[in-house]
Amino acid sequence: MDDFAAANTSASIDGIRVDLRHWIGGERIASARTFADLSPIDEAEIAQVAAGTAAEVDAAVAAARAAFPAWSALPVGERSAILRRVADGIEARIEDLARVETRDNGSLIRSHRRGVMPRVALNLRAFADYAEKQLSHPDMSVRGHRERITYDPAGVVAVITPWNAPLMLATWRIGPALAAGNTVVVKPPEWAPLTASLLADIMHEAGVPAGVFNVVQGTGADAGAPLTAHPDINRLAFTGSVPTAAVIARAAAPNIVPLSFELGGKSPLLVFEDADLALAVDLAVEQFDNAGQVCLKAARMLVHSSIADEFTRRLVERTAGLRQGDPREENTDLSALIARRHFEQVSGFVERALADGARALIGGEPNRELGGLYYRPTVLVDAKPGSEILTEEVFGPVVTVETFQTEDDAVARANDTRFGLAATVVTSDPERAERVSHALHAGTVWVNCFFVRDLEAPFGGTGKSGIGREGGLWSFDFYCDVKNSVFSP
Ligand code: NAD
Repeated sequence: MDDFAAANTSASIDGIRVDLRHWIGGERIASARTFADLSPIDEAEIAQVAAGTAAEVDAAVAAARAAFPAWSALPVGERSAILRRVADGIEARIEDLARVETRDNGSLIRSHRRGVMPRVALNLRAFADYAEKQLSHPDMSVRGHRERITYDPAGVVAVITPWNAPLMLATWRIGPALAAGNTVVVKPPEWAPLTASLLADIMHEAGVPAGVFNVVQGTGADAGAPLTAHPDINRLAFTGSVPTAAVIARAAAPNIVPLSFELGGKSPLLVFEDADLALAVDLAVEQFDNAGQVCLKAARMLVHSSIADEFTRRLVERTAGLRQGDPREENTDLSALIARRHFEQVSGFVERALADGARALIGGEPNRELGGLYYRPTVLVDAKPGSEILTEEVFGPVVTVETFQTEDDAVARANDTRFGLAATVVTSDPERAERVSHALHAGTVWVNCFFVRDLEAPFGGTGKSGIGREGGLWSFDFYCDVKNSVFSP
């Protein structure tokens, strides 16, 4: 493997060169071993990526620690200027990033071009701007004393991310962490590791000093675990599943490291009898985006019984019109699931639901024409109350439709989950919109819209969907040690 690692330091992904080694202390570092990166599009092996272990993690944390004094001492305007150059670099390479991410995790190229990659750049640019605005605080005068509140960068931030939107979710943490003056070690997801490496190139070209930004590739067990247990990290930002979060919380506990967790969901979409039905169906069909592999996805449709037949008929009709196929084609609406293991999990959830009395109005099986990891968009009805399909996160192109009679019933069922990431409400009654949004347990409630995200607003989950909030000042609260200095006259 040593020879292999030495000889295969980069891959060409649709003609774009991607370095497959770690990025530590401003240098490319290989590992003795590599792991295979398969594309969901055709299950082809597209790269052998450096498989990091505790040794590479130690080196990356040490590099980040060494770079911290100088980076944190830079005036915020200078740091922000460098980070804006990173944003420029991302914007200049949107097409490359889009093509590599699409090949790597099977998400739609059109989503990357129009929304995801521009948002990646914004994650850097917006927090560079906020840092200049928000990290300075006017002094307060309290009972004759002057109080100064400062946001001191915490130190070394560990970032661990999932595969479903890897670069967007990583930069959502990296942007504020770096803008606040921290240094960063990222462990990208092993099922979609490639765009993090391109980000390292862009950081380097934009003038981010060596050691400020580091990437250690590898599996959760071999590279993620030593990073989370490392005694020299100061913050741990994790996006992923609840079971992994529980393991990570235990690993980080002895070091008393503050955690920010963005986890799974089982979000509801509530459609009231006064809803604009066309809008409700539009929002419902959106839930098949990224083949349903979206944390915020509304998996449970709760529909008033008086309109349920019409809603379901239109949803099934629209779902039948979705074009499933190669995500590199602009007119594809829905692609493949990320990996064989995940495909089997999603299939298993649906098979058990069907065996338990649920009915598939459409889908309910793999797409046998396309084969591979393509699973048909699926609408299930008649699922048993409390059954697995209504309570567990499936993370695939599967939605359930249930009916309700009253507003109280709708809210109670929406809240009957251990998650609480998001909820969507469709109603034309403004008073109901206020009442229901107030009563729902969720980090984000959308009324007559979905996926509207403002980087200055707080984002996070209630219940098992996470710990903490990020966005705007909430991000800096997490990535900084907030200090109050009291001056006596
Ligand atoms: P996962 O928990 O399996 O893995 C996430 C990351 O953790 C990967 O990089 C993995 O290598 C790493 N990891 C695994 N075991 C580890 C360990 N012991 N120590 C340290 N790191 C370890 O999640 P996934 O399957 O990649 O992602 C899907 C999940 O992420 C879903 O539950 C989804 O809802 C959630 N998610 C949440 C948000 C959000 O913002 N709330 C966004 C996207 C995805």
